[in-house]
Parts: sequence; structure tokens; C-alpha cells
Amino acid sequence: MAGPGLLLVLSAPSGAGKTTLAHRFRAREPDARFSVSATTRAPRGAERDGVDYHFVSPARFDELVAAGALAEWAEVHGNRYGTTKATVEEALRAGQVALFDIDVQGGEQIRAHWPSRTVTVFILPPTLAELERRLRGRSTDSGEAIARRLAAARAEIARGLGGYDYVIVNDQLDRALAQLEAVVAHERARLAGRADPEPAAVAAALRRSRFDAAGWDGAGPIG
Ligand code: ADP
Ligand code: 5GP
Repeated sequence: MAGPGLLLVLSAPSGAGKTTLAHRFRAREPDARFSVSATTRAPRGAERDGVDYHFVSPARFDELVAAGALAEWAEVHGNRYGTTKATVEEALRAGQVALFDIDVQGGEQIRAHWPSRTVTVFILPPTLAELERRLRGRSTDSGEAIARRLAAARAEIARGLGGYDYVIVNDQLDRALAQLEAVVAHERARLAGRADPEPAAVAAALRRSRFDAAGWDGAGPIG
């Protein structure tokens, strides 16, 4: 169903399951598309150029920045990542849900550029110990990269819980997916000027302002 385009920003500490969730969401929403970012990092596992990322050299990334072609960019874990303005504008024109799998600083910049069209969703792991298990289970990163991602997790969580619109705890994947779908249904209905009571009620319960950070199990130490 085409309608008003929605910029759906998904952020999470690395390993929380955001990519898994985003792909499951996309599989159920033919109208959704991924925003493909440019990055200077090397491809990982089965990642493909132009599908998962546009893999570019540091010099090419410099050119994109100098040309003003990026809506936002950030350095994450020692590599640079950025979203082109053209990607966002095309998604808005097409009236689709554009999924942004980007970090919190990038998500905040997208929202600052397109405030009425952006919804920001922060994905949390059930606990930090489970985050570490998922990172190790994914077995695509070196021990050193995992340690770096875990060290960054607390700061990313603090930022996400500080300013994002919604918080979803990815404990059971099916439940997290249903929650994400309710948020999107609610936000799309809102943009289209329709009332949609059922997703609205689910979405309201997921507002960050309703999230009990003190009661979240992940508040404990890592490991
Ligand atoms: P991210 O994109 O946030 O870095 P991934 O989607 O790559 O994370 O997920 C990290 C690992 O955790 C993957 O091996 C994935 O299969 C697993 N995972 C994702 N969601 C869940 C879940 N709800 N329960 C258990 N494992 C999960
Ligand atoms: P990964 O290397 O695991 O694919 O991504 C590392 C981090 O970079 C993740 O938090 C991811 O969301 C973020 N990221 C990916 N693309 C972009 C982007 O275009 N902009 C920003 N700001 N962050 C991004």
C-alpha cells in the first residue's frame, strides 16, 4: 500500500538483532525498502555490494562528503557510514516505508532533516549478557571487534533511551516484529490522517516515555 512515505529509523547496540528484525519486517511488508548506506568498512560474511551497503574507499567517501551528497554520516567502530540524500528523497517520493539501519547519531540527524516523516525506534537486547551471546553466536566479528562493540553498547543504549520515539525489547523475535509492525501501522495511519485504534494502543505502550529503564534487565554488568 503506497501512502505518505515514512522514514523508519531502527537503531540498536550491535548484536541486538536489528538486522534480523529489519529483514523479517521487510519480508512481510512488500512496500518497505532498505536504505542502502555507503561505508568504508570491508564486506562481512555474505554481504553484497549495492544490497547490504555500497562499499566504498575512504577517498570515495571523502568525495561524497565534499559534494554534500550525504544526509548524515558518522564514524562507528573505526569506519565511516553515511546515508545519501538521494536515497531518502526517492523513498519519500515513492510513498514507501524506508528502513534505516543506522546508529543513533545518524538517526537523530535524519529526524532533524525530515521531522514530520521520521519515526525512530530503538531495539534493546533483553540483557547485556544476551547481547554478548548474540555477538559471539553470529561469529562474523573477531574477538577484538566484539569487545569494541560491547564497550560501545552502553553509550549507544544511553543515547537511544535518551531521545528515540519508541523502544522495543527484542527478546522473542516474533513479538518484537509484531510490535514493530504496530508502530509502523500507527505512524502511517497518523501521517495519512486516519485513526487506527488497535495499533495505536500497542504503539502507545512502546513510547520511550513509557519505558522503565530501571526495570530493564540489561541495566546490569556485561558478561
Ligand atoms: P544487529 O543487526 O543488531 O547487529 P543481528 O540481526 O546480526 O544484530 O543479530 C545478532 C545475532 O543475534 C544473530 O546471530 C541473530 O540470529 C541473533 N538474534 C536476533 N534476534 C534474536 C532473538 N530475538 N533471539 C535470539 N537470537 C536473536
Ligand atoms: P555494521 O558494521 O554492524 O554493519 O554497522 C555498524 C553500525 O553502523 C551500526 O550501528 C549501524 O546501524 C551503523 N550504520 C550503518 N549505516 C549507517 C549510516 O548510513 N549512517 C550511520 N550514522 N550509521 C550507520
